[in-house]
Amino acid sequence: VSVFYRPLDKIAAVIETYPKGIAGFRRYQELLGTEPDIADRPGAQAVGHLKGDIGFEDVRFGYTPDRPILTGIDLPIHAGETVAFVGPSGAGKTTLLSLLPRFYEIDGGRITVDGIDIRDMTLASLRRNIGIVQQDVFLFGGTIRENIAYGRLDASEEDILAAARRARLDTLIAELPEGLDTLIGERGVKLSGGQKQRLAISRIFLKDPPILILDEATSALDTHTEREIQRSLDELARGRTTLVIAHRLATVLDADRIVVVTPDGIAEQGTHEELLARGGLYRRLYQAQFGEGPALVGG
Ligand code: ATP
Repeated sequence: VSVFYRPLDKIAAVIETYPKGIAGFRRYQELLGTEPDIADRPGAQAVGHLKGDIGFEDVRFGYTPDRPILTGIDLPIHAGETVAFVGPSGAGKTTLLSLLPRFYEIDGGRITVDGIDIRDMTLASLRRNIGIVQQDVFLFGGTIRENIAYGRLDASEEDILAAARRARLDTLIAELPEGLDTLIGERGVKLSGGQKQRLAISRIFLKDPPILILDEATSALDTHTEREIQRSLDELARGRTTLVIAHRLATVLDADRIVVVTPDGIAEQGTHEELLARGGLYRRLYQAQFGEGPALVGG
């Protein structure tokens, strides 16, 4: 099951492709055949670069009124913290994280960033503060330069190349006769899966948001490429508040905090050692998933 076949896969494209906000988002929702129900409140403020303190306060949400998914989530997250979300499939991890960029309107409670209710910020300015990385990378026809710089059209060549370097895409760019101006997609160079991911990571390095939402691969392929990309992702996460739907053992081991989500809410939280020692749901999940060698937590 692709973790992000639901909202975020559709939405990362929107976030990364339409950072100017609502117009593009609407267009995208039209394509999806869904009604836009998220709009800027009158008086919403355009926030600048936020610090990245996040607060979920008694957050309640359901996709339909008859079926609540989240029933009172309280979760403060400090700026710079890396929080790994694990839990049974369908528990609401993806849903919870998709509320932060306001892909859906919550039914109760509030979500804050740096103490400000996200509904009091313009959507565009909120989303400029959030980067999303997932498995299905969204790219559009056009050049590598355009794909990296989308959302930061004012970016200098130097900044674009620096972002590409940090995502380890610079070697490829150097090999291409037209470099950054190489067309990709149907009319141009076909990128490999790993190259696409690097391109998406470059885009976020350039965007430099304080908050990162990460959906890890459901298949923990231990290939060289996977490891290289993981290294870039680790670097991307450094210094940012990082919320990750965790599937890799290394992620839960390294996280500042693991939050175990169940359909009844947050069951436990703590570090890997703390949760193992507790002998609760995390321990059972961990043993079931990793007991017989590296496999998946969550998903
Ligand atoms: P997984 O680990 O399998 O990805 P999850 O913990 O991320 O699961 P969610 O994807 O958040 O769980 O799903 C929580 C519940 O909400 C599930 O019952 C799911 O079927 C439902 N759900 C998810 N997306 C939608 C949607 N767009 N419309 C209606 N229901 C949805």
